[in-house]
Amino acid sequence: MPRDYENQAPTAFQRRPHLTQDDNWIRAFLKEAKIGHIASAIDGQPFLNPTMFWLDEENHQIVFHSNVAGRVRSNIESNPRVSLEASEFGKFLPSNVALEFSLQFRSAVIFGTARVVTDPVEARRLMYSLISKYFPKLTAGKEYREITDKELRATSIYALKIESWSGKENWAERADQSDEWTPLDEKWFE
Ligand SMILES: Cc1cc2nc3c(=O)[nH]c(=O)nc-3n(C[C@H](O)[C@H](O)[C@H](O)COP(=O)(O)OP(=O)(O)OC[C@H]3O[C@@H](n4cnc5c(N)ncnc54)[C@H](O)[C@@H]3O)c2cc1C
Repeated sequence: MPRDYENQAPTAFQRRPHLTQDDNWIRAFLKEAKIGHIASAIDGQPFLNPTMFWLDEENHQIVFHSNVAGRVRSNIESNPRVSLEASEFGKFLPSNVALEFSLQFRSAVIFGTARVVTDPVEARRLMYSLISKYFPKLTAGKEYREITDKELRATSIYALKIESWSGKENWAERADQSDEWTPLDEKWFE
């Protein structure tokens, strides 16, 4: 029977508690994770958008951007409630029973409210910080041109205020195996 989730926080009841990670782990993971998927929704239709992002630790928010005209902007303006997922994976993990096939993974899921950053000073600061995550050695005004007013008008910079988050990691060397079936040959684990 599915659980009754009415009036429960979106991060409640993580199904495998031993894989659940704490706030420090989530923070460290989000600082390193490269790609996030922003979920927005309008008229009951969910949308996913892959994006670069930056964890602004000081303000407990996620910064990302899109073009000025587009679904992400339009959806968020109509409904600022969003979610973001980021993950990475390692080895694929075989098993001798179907439902134990797995992979090494670590991931975080965030729930919160996004706003379009309209103050140009704040927008530039956040945009430069986002760029620095991916290109820490490049500086605005040195290797690349500073953001012009026209460029700023053509983009949307968002600040996603984090309301709740969860982290999960399964980096086991092997998936569970059953002793009620012939063991897998070692070659499958190579
Ligand atoms: C790994 C990755 C990282 C990215 N990082 C950024 C980033 O940091 N900033 C940025 O502005 N863009 C980034 N993009 C592109 C981004 O996913 C969107 O295409 C872009 O932000 C425009 O979104 P939109 O909703 O305004 O597009 P719209 O063109 O308005 O979207 C309309 C429809 O087009 C389709 N669509 C839009 N984007 C995609 C897509 N990526 N793949 C397939 N279908 C799509 C969907 O059906 C969507 O509903 C990234 C893409 C990838 C794959």
